[in-house]
Amino acid sequence: MTMPARTHTPDRTNPDGTTTIKMQRACNGCGTQLGDVTDQEMARGINGLPLPDVRKECPTCGPTAPEPRCLPMTTVNGDKACLDGQCDHSVEPGADYCTNTDKHTACLTHSTIHSSGAITHAEPWPCQHTT
Ligand SMILES: [Zn+2]
Ligand SMILES: [Zn+2]
Ligand SMILES: [Zn+2]
Repeated sequence: MTMPARTHTPDRTNPDGTTTIKMQRACNGCGTQLGDVTDQEMARGINGLPLPDVRKECPTCGPTAPEPRCLPMTTVNGDKACLDGQCDHSVEPGADYCTNTDKHTACLTHSTIHSSGAITHAEPWPCQHTT
């Protein structure tokens, strides 16, 4: 899998004298700054999900780094009211959501998350990216 090239936005000095710094992503192996954080990393950070393994992008760790590990995550499909627990459907004992929703397992590593927390692409589990 080839990664899209990461952009590097230099610090910018604004007319009022303040500086705008684009958040940088550090390698999760050695801490080297690799470039601007991607939308996916922002979305995952905002939603409290683990950040992608970027060691493959790192000049130091890349040659010996394993492929990013697939991580299972449970996703729930249903109406917003159901997911918020504000519907009139029955909820089975011990279940988090009503019977009108269904649960799937997706691979977090290879899914695409929107910053709202919505999953725009869910890669089915078991993930076919694992060799
Ligand atoms: Zn590294
Ligand atoms: Zn995967
Ligand atoms: Zn419901």
